[in-house]
Amino acid sequence: MGQVESGALPLEVIEIPNNGFMSDQPTNATIVGTHDVFIIDPGDAAGVEIVQEALGRRDDVRVQAILLTHGHPDHATAAPELKRIYDCPVMLNPKERPILRQFLSWSDIDEELTGGMTLPIAGGELRALDTPGHSPGHIAFYEPVSRTLIAGDLVSGHGTVGIFPPHGKMVEYFDSLERMQRLNTSVIIPGHGPTMTQPPDLFAQYIERRSTRESEIYAVVAREPTTIEAMIPELYPVVLPHFRRAAAATILAHLEKLAAEGKVRPESDDRIEGIWSAQR
Ligand SMILES: [Zn+2]
Repeated sequence: MGQVESGALPLEVIEIPNNGFMSDQPTNATIVGTHDVFIIDPGDAAGVEIVQEALGRRDDVRVQAILLTHGHPDHATAAPELKRIYDCPVMLNPKERPILRQFLSWSDIDEELTGGMTLPIAGGELRALDTPGHSPGHIAFYEPVSRTLIAGDLVSGHGTVGIFPPHGKMVEYFDSLERMQRLNTSVIIPGHGPTMTQPPDLFAQYIERRSTRESEIYAVVAREPTTIEAMIPELYPVVLPHFRRAAAATILAHLEKLAAEGKVRPESDDRIEGIWSAQR
């Protein structure tokens, strides 16, 4: 992160390459502190070696804990091996247990992480902030002196994050974005992509883009009852074949929010393939 404001915790961001479904985007791991450190999101399997190399460049390193924003494999796969090497706890929100069970071969949470917790470390502290939406127990971390938000998959330096049911919830995501917009943040380190400044604008842009999409989806359903599959060509005219499932999941996430607000309803139990209609 270049120079550090006086009194702020040093933050070193390192890119961890991904295998599998995020192979086009490395994950940002963040080392917080100087000698006593937190490791946030050590990433996919490659993170075991890369994080050790980064810590090997420092003297007398003691890892106080591995903190995970959420349990997706591109953030959390390297955690158990680094925990063994550095003999430190892994901290994660227990609401992420279903995610670990679905995607990873480990499910141990040594210490439970919840929003509102203060995490002291030599030279300062981090604050854990509930930011669900992308996943049910997503946590972002705030460094109060430099007003830096280590945001995980709340936002992305590449433009957008996936909100995919059943674990992803659009109602929670809007709520998290609105709360983070009110936070006095000057720098955001996203889970993927470059570090960003001008955060108040950034959250407003995210909220606006999602609201626009939601209105478009409502307009399509209000015109005539229809299926998600039939909505894709209109809402995503240039969608590439391998993004079709993501497009369908995103539409479903918006429809579930609209349904919770009483604006649309599924005509059958099959919310994925069935017909949706507007409430009159
Ligand atoms: Zn994720």
